[in-house]
Amino acid sequence: MGGDRTGHIEMSKLTIALTKGRILKETLPLLEGAGIEPLEDINKSRKLAFDTTSPDVRLLILRGVDVPTYVEFGAADVGVSGKDILMEHSGNAFYELLDLNIAKCRLMTAAKADALPKVGRLRVATKYVNVAKAYYSRLGRQVDVIKLYGGMELAPIMGLADEIVDIVDTGNTLIANGLEARETIAHISSRLIVNKASMKLKHFQIEALVDAIGMSVNDLAGLADGG
Ligand code: AMP
Repeated sequence: MGGDRTGHIEMSKLTIALTKGRILKETLPLLEGAGIEPLEDINKSRKLAFDTTSPDVRLLILRGVDVPTYVEFGAADVGVSGKDILMEHSGNAFYELLDLNIAKCRLMTAAKADALPKVGRLRVATKYVNVAKAYYSRLGRQVDVIKLYGGMELAPIMGLADEIVDIVDTGNTLIANGLEARETIAHISSRLIVNKASMKLKHFQIEALVDAIGMSVNDLAGLADGG
């Protein structure tokens, strides 16, 4: 880990909080393009903090919802987070500097495939409570939002909710559970966020990082276009 034998972590390092799971898989090649590679295999370790080939950079591996919190409080200088998580997070004590163009999906409403549109008050199950409340309020719909932590797709089938608000990529999970996508709330991709104080205190380190990752993003986009 990025520290001495007592577990103490040096604070001059640039700390980047990453989201584990599929976003991590797509983030590592971007970091690699910027010359930053973890010194050990993240997938084979139980550790949550990793030194890298860039001696001034350390990586933290977190649950997605915790990334904005780490960055907001300055426990990490920089973070990689899905736009869905940023939309749901209350508080904005960070800058959103780059669209990384990875982990693309849509935040959507969905309902039972055969359900007629419901008139009147809706019950909506989601882990995106703030996003859902804002969305239905813009539509002028009265809703009761039920917070769930996973398995949202079961809620309409079991009669817990009329609709869900969730991430949709291929739509296969919805179909496998007898649901269909209804409205798109937002197009989602992962973003690079930076703590506001770090932006001042570690300006040159962060500027270099943002430039290098920005180039990685463009290179990958060029490859995807066949260029
Ligand atoms: P799919 O069956 O391809 O529509 O994928 C749906 C499930 O995969 C969702 O319920 C999400 O939990 C997860 N998922 C898909 N894409 C993403 C993403 N970019 N970020 C986070 N979760 C995702």
